[in-house]
Amino acid sequence: MHLFGEHEQVVVCHEPEAGLRAIIAVHDTTLGPALGGIRMWTYASDEAALTDVLRLSRGMTYKNSMAGLPLGGGKTVVLGDPRTDKSDLMFRALGRFIDALGGRYIAAEDVGISIADAEVVARETHHMSGLPVAAGGSGDPSPMTAWGIFCGMRSCLREAELDGFQGIRVAVQGAGHVGAALTGHLLAAGARVTVADIYSDRTGPLRALGAEIGEAETIHTADCDIFAPCALGAAINPNTVGELRCRIVAGAANNQLLDDAMGDQLERRGIVYAPDYVINAGGVINIGEELDGAYDADRARRSVERIEGNLDAVFERARADGVPPHRAANLIAEERIATARAARADAVASLYRPSPSG
Ligand code: NAD
Repeated sequence: MHLFGEHEQVVVCHEPEAGLRAIIAVHDTTLGPALGGIRMWTYASDEAALTDVLRLSRGMTYKNSMAGLPLGGGKTVVLGDPRTDKSDLMFRALGRFIDALGGRYIAAEDVGISIADAEVVARETHHMSGLPVAAGGSGDPSPMTAWGIFCGMRSCLREAELDGFQGIRVAVQGAGHVGAALTGHLLAAGARVTVADIYSDRTGPLRALGAEIGEAETIHTADCDIFAPCALGAAINPNTVGELRCRIVAGAANNQLLDDAMGDQLERRGIVYAPDYVINAGGVINIGEELDGAYDADRARRSVERIEGNLDAVFERARADGVPPHRAANLIAEERIATARAARADAVASLYRPSPSG
């Protein structure tokens, strides 16, 4: 992948007085303004931060396209330690950089950024989403992400020829915001859930709900129907892919596959894979509702439920083209963008076409 060949705009944001060093990448705005979160992280180098923002912004283009949203893909990375380096000055400075893009980029929260930080950014720009419900926003996206994954799992169960959630064994890796909410939905639907986290205070409350607690190091090896990666990226890598004992991989984490070859291996092993950016799009669909006018949680929930149909379409396309689902999802997302680009080019060309009367 030639990362720079694809991006529309990359902005380095530097304001030493505010302690701000950040990069905003606008990958593609064919479908609409580029939506993507702000990530704050202690990057090992500037190059690592640049690579991350280029990859993540590209991923958002695919996620938003696949979710059927009128939005393109973008992302921001802030270089620094989210536990020690944050300040209001820094986030206000970032807000001004975002504002200067004039709406080409719409920000949201991502790793290391809280709703409180988002509110500080929003003092300088209208192009900040994911704000508290009381402030007219859509609030924490995690519950909608979890609901979307639960709905998407229905499609995966059909694809694996399993019948409903009753008695289905699910291993959830990561009991954070999404993993915990997903565990609740699964237990309520009659599934048997084992959940593991590196912090025991995250799993404790889930035991009370009826979940079993597993070990973080080995949860991916659990003998189960669904393995749900809800922690960090690259859960499916050369060390783990051969150890899986599940029929389905479906979860919240972004970039679950270390690379595309891992998805090919899942296919060869007969494991149904729900492409991560298709099944975990509940959060962006929710934000799409916020951007669409007065936010309505019920309407947002119904929109998130479309994820089940989106996955059906991916599995259908995979069968039709004889490719694994992660490649089928890329094809669908790319075709939507290509169609919109062609329509735009046509519209522009028609402006310059001489009329028949000359
Ligand atoms: P979170 O930080 O609340 O939860 C992640 C949990 O994973 C934490 O409890 C952490 O202790 C645990 N964890 C980390 N490494 C682990 C390991 N090796 N084994 C087991 N547990 C481990 O994050 P979240 O908001 O729940 O998001 C989970 C994942 O889903 C992330 O990858 C995120 O990028 C992705 N995602 C989240 C949303 C959302 O709406 N929050 C939307 C799309 C994608």
